[in-house]
Amino acid sequence: MARPTSATIHTDALRHNLGVIRARASGSRVMAVVKADGYGHGLERVARALEGADAFGVAALSDAERLRAAGLSQPIVLLSGFDEADDLPQLRRLNVETVVHHAAQLAMLEQAGDGDPIRCWLKIDTGMHRLGFAPDDVRDAHGRLSALAGVADDIVLMSHFASSDEFDKPQTREQLRVFAEATNGLSGARSLANSAAVFGWPGSHGDWVRPGGALYGVSAVDGKPGPEFGLQPAMTLATRLLAVNRIRKGERIGYGATWQCPEDMPVGVAAIGYGDGYPRHAPAGTPVMVNGLRANIIGRVSMDLMTIDLREQPEAKAGDPVMLWGAGLPVETVGAAAGTIGYELICSITRRVRVVED
Ligand SMILES: *Cc1c(COP(=O)(O)O)cnc(C)c1O
Repeated sequence: MARPTSATIHTDALRHNLGVIRARASGSRVMAVVKADGYGHGLERVARALEGADAFGVAALSDAERLRAAGLSQPIVLLSGFDEADDLPQLRRLNVETVVHHAAQLAMLEQAGDGDPIRCWLKIDTGMHRLGFAPDDVRDAHGRLSALAGVADDIVLMSHFASSDEFDKPQTREQLRVFAEATNGLSGARSLANSAAVFGWPGSHGDWVRPGGALYGVSAVDGKPGPEFGLQPAMTLATRLLAVNRIRKGERIGYGATWQCPEDMPVGVAAIGYGDGYPRHAPAGTPVMVNGLRANIIGRVSMDLMTIDLREQPEAKAGDPVMLWGAGLPVETVGAAAGTIGYELICSITRRVRVVED
C-alpha cells in the first residue's frame, strides 16, 4: 500500500489569493514571490497558476532558469541579487532582473562593461539591517548605476520591512520615513510591501507590491490567520489513521514516554511524522483534524508516525482521514502551537510526501 500522506495544492486558491491582493493594492503591480520552491508548493506549478502576476521574485538564479525552461516569459527578479561576475551573462541570457544591494555588486557591474541592459532593483536598508545600501549611500549608488550602459535606465527603488506584520508597531512607519528621505528626488518605481504590508500598511504599496505568504493563503500576522484577510489556504496536508488502540490509564505513549493516559482511552496512530516535514517539536495539544473534527497530538512526533487523543471520537478507526493543515485548520495555528510560523511549515514538506494538484 502506498503511504497515504499527501500535500494537495489548490491552484484555484493561489489565483483567488492573487485576486485578493490585487483588490487590496489596486494601484500597484504585483510581484509574486515564488522562492523556496514556491513556498513549498512547487515552483513551476505555482508560477503557471499565477501567470497573471506582473513578475516573479526568486532567491536563486537556478529558480529563474527553471521558470524560463517551463516557458514562463514574465519578468523575473533575483531578490538576493547576483554574487559573482559570472552571474551577469546568465542574467542577460535568461532576461532576469536583479536586486543590487552592495557595493561589491556595483563594482562587478562596472567592470563587466557593456551588454544588454540589466534592470536593477536598488535595495535600501531602511532599518532591517539585512541587505541594502545605507540611506546615506543611496544617491551615490543610484548615480553609479545610472551611468552604466549595461544597466537599464528604469532603476527600481526598493526596501524590505522587518515588522510590517505588527500593525501597531512604529518600526514600519519609521522605515517608510527613512525610505522617503533616502530616495527623495530620485526617479524610478518604488517597492516596499511584503504580504503583511499589503494588508496592514496601504501607504507602503507604491508601484510594486511583493507578496509571498499571502499568495499561499498564509498570514504572517500573529493571531490572524489567512482566512481573516479573505485568503484561502493553497495547501492541504493530509494522511490517514493506521491504527486506533485502546490504551490503559497510567500507560505512557511514544518515545521518551512523555505523555501519560489519564484514563483508559483510544489513541490514534497517523502516518505522518518529521520525516514528512511535520515538526517534531509540535507538543502535545497541537491540533489536527480527524474525520473533520479537531483532535490533539499526544506524545512525541516521530519520524513516520504521530499519536492522537481520540477520546472525543471513540468510533474513529484505521483508514479514517487526518488533516494536519488546510481549510478549517490554518497552518498558522499549527505553527503557533509548535513554536514556529506557518511559513516554515509549508516550506518544510519533504520529498516522500505525494504532491497532488487540484
Ligand atoms: C520573501 C520576500 C518577500 C515576500 O515576503 P512575504 O512575507 O512572504 O510576503 C518580499 N520581498 C522580499 C525581498 C523577500 O525576500
